[in-house]
Amino acid sequence: MADRIYNFSPGPAMLPLAALEEAQRDLQALPGTGISILEISHRSKAFEAIINEAEANLRKLLGIPDRYRVLFLQGGALLQFAMVPMNLLRGQGKSADYILTGSWAKKAMQEAKTQGGVRVAWDGSSGNFKRMPSQNELDIRSGATYVHMTSNETIQGIQFPNEPNAGNVPLVCDSSSDFLCRPLDISKYGILYACAQKNAGPAGVTVVIIRDDVLQSMPTDLPSMLNYRELADSKSLLNTPPTFAVYMVKLVTDWLLRDIGGLDEMHRINKQKAEMLYGVIDQCGGFYDGHAEPASRSIMNVTFRLPNAELEEKFLKEAKSRGLVELKGHRSVGGCRASIYNAMPVEGVQSLRDCMLEFHDRNKPA
Ligand SMILES: *Cc1c(COP(=O)(O)O)cnc(C)c1O
Repeated sequence: MADRIYNFSPGPAMLPLAALEEAQRDLQALPGTGISILEISHRSKAFEAIINEAEANLRKLLGIPDRYRVLFLQGGALLQFAMVPMNLLRGQGKSADYILTGSWAKKAMQEAKTQGGVRVAWDGSSGNFKRMPSQNELDIRSGATYVHMTSNETIQGIQFPNEPNAGNVPLVCDSSSDFLCRPLDISKYGILYACAQKNAGPAGVTVVIIRDDVLQSMPTDLPSMLNYRELADSKSLLNTPPTFAVYMVKLVTDWLLRDIGGLDEMHRINKQKAEMLYGVIDQCGGFYDGHAEPASRSIMNVTFRLPNAELEEKFLKEAKSRGLVELKGHRSVGGCRASIYNAMPVEGVQSLRDCMLEFHDRNKPA
């Protein structure tokens, strides 16, 4: 096996070793075909089986009801920021409510503004995006066309503890950085989307789950590749899909079902990993200053600061020398961030915990 280190990158992020090994083993020829996944026709029986299995795995893991379509699209989460309002917001009298919880929610709203009317249902910016809103703080209009939320703010490291209630308004969720990290009740959502490169696969594919009635409410006059209805009718095969990325989503979801045993177990492991790091933050008397308020702490992205920039740099260097990399916070907020998605082994988090504890011991104020 190659020398792998612990990569705490927010995305593209670590993939399960089992999935990488399987891809490597079958790279030259998919079993029974004599053709590589990189060479195979997206119209072949073999690829059809792969995309169908990827969908079946997602349906099984998340308990997705039949009245939802599962699409595999390109353009990342950012294209979804635009496609959602393009498909739902054009036309008279339409306007959407956005829950502004952090950098990604803000970007989603900016993109929506290019397509139609938007309104803020809650704004966490004055509190520096340290927490998610509670249900009674949300000002969602019953007549809103949809309400948009971000289940996990990757940059700030805050996460909704559970789904907000949007009443009869279709709830649209950017779940890019916590997709498949825990079970969720998909019936609460009109649309849920997630780019794969955080938790579900490599860059290049975005999973979009849409309820049928929301799909049917959409116009048909958009260009094909921006039109959810056409994409759904073609079963994501309107044009050449990102075949290798879809294949990797199948391998990652195989791993979740076969090796982990489903999302309840994945959630248990993820909570255990997150508690290790938040434990250090709570234990070290403010040396590691956690950004998130405890009730909104993300189990995927742990964000914290050290007492000053020199110590931060020293810490990052020391971590790197121990094979713990990509711990620098996003350039817009600074500090440190440990992204501990599904594929980050418990051992990697233990190693980071030990590094943080030892660094604190040696550098704490006298
Ligand atoms: C990474 C991320 C995005 C952006 O995804 P792209 O695939 O790069 O467009 C959007 N939203 C959230 C919550 C993310 O974590």
